[in-house]
Amino acid sequence: MQKAHDLVWTDWRSQLKHRISTVEDLRQWINVTPDEEQAIQDSEGKYRWSITPYYAALMDKDDPMCPIRQQSVPSVQEFISFTGSDNDPVGDTVYRKTNRVVHKYPDRVIFLITEVCAVYCRHCTRKYHTTDLSGTYFESNEAASWEQDFEYIASHPEIRDVLLTGGDPLTYSDEKLELIISRLRKIPHVEIIRIGSRYPVLLPQRITPEFCAMLEKYHPIWLNTHFNHPKEITPEAAAACDRLLRHGIPVQNQTVLLKGLNDDLETMKSLLKGLLKIRVRPYYLYHCDNVTGVSHFVTSIEKGREIMRGLLGHMTGFAVPQYIVTTKLGKIPLWEEQFHQDDQGYWLENYNHDTMRVDDPNLI
Ligand SMILES: *Cc1c(COP(=O)(O)O)cnc(C)c1O
Ligand code: SF4
Repeated sequence: MQKAHDLVWTDWRSQLKHRISTVEDLRQWINVTPDEEQAIQDSEGKYRWSITPYYAALMDKDDPMCPIRQQSVPSVQEFISFTGSDNDPVGDTVYRKTNRVVHKYPDRVIFLITEVCAVYCRHCTRKYHTTDLSGTYFESNEAASWEQDFEYIASHPEIRDVLLTGGDPLTYSDEKLELIISRLRKIPHVEIIRIGSRYPVLLPQRITPEFCAMLEKYHPIWLNTHFNHPKEITPEAAAACDRLLRHGIPVQNQTVLLKGLNDDLETMKSLLKGLLKIRVRPYYLYHCDNVTGVSHFVTSIEKGREIMRGLLGHMTGFAVPQYIVTTKLGKIPLWEEQFHQDDQGYWLENYNHDTMRVDDPNLI
């Protein structure tokens, strides 16, 4: 396989620099199908795409249904319109308080510090933010507004949990991240800082010993990552998680249930078992949101519930994630008590006993 001659495999900046973002680059790794080529052309000016050489090396050369390919190579299905799809079905923009802070739950906020990622996952729930070229949250005068973001958190004493996300926050340098984290640490009511990053999966080289040592100074720090398929649990990814864990940073996983990719019991079980082996705790299994450009990955809710029935009791409780649907009312577990069905469809109840109806596009 031909690779760029100056690519340093173990250096995350070199991996970023050599990201694959043209059909010609991609052909060095896989046999690109006519549909994939078409989708890449159609993405131009609409959705971003790029793939790290590390992640590309996991792709099956000949099988377009390869789970790594499906997550990272554009698909023609992204351009088909599906019933009920929405750019922001979870209402992030409704709860957005400043340029970067989304305050939806009483005690915690998400802090969207970047719209950049090393790999643009085709199923990203914030596709309008991370991949739609014109649709990010950020205003043009980005730099000026950081003060407002910190000020919002500092002036809301009920916020005890700040989750750095994006985009992938670890796209920034250690220095920039340390500026952000140390600033948050100065706010007395911020008890825990969480990082949401997919880089243990997409760019494990980013989890350097220096980075982990920097984080360790600001404990308690937690990190949530995003493995979707057992193929992603490589020795490099395992080593990245191990480095975080050895610095006292608990690593949890949030999987998205994706049609044709991990929506069968055996794949899910093998993913969960693989995560326990690398000491990563399964946290959430997200029902895939009906996000514009992502709808082809949406399974039926019944499929997710069937998988959950196959997990509970068959594996230890801490191997079993909570099956969650994210709505404008917040995250709601799709388990018996919160879930009712009548002749109008499905009804959900959140932690506050608010109820809403949910549409299942697979029933239409
Ligand atoms: C998911 C999410 C959180 C964190 O939720 P947890 O259930 O605590 O992991 C916080 N704010 C927003 C807007 C979210 O979407
Ligand atoms: S890394 Fe996360 S934020 Fe970035 S495209 Fe993938 S799912 Fe979206």
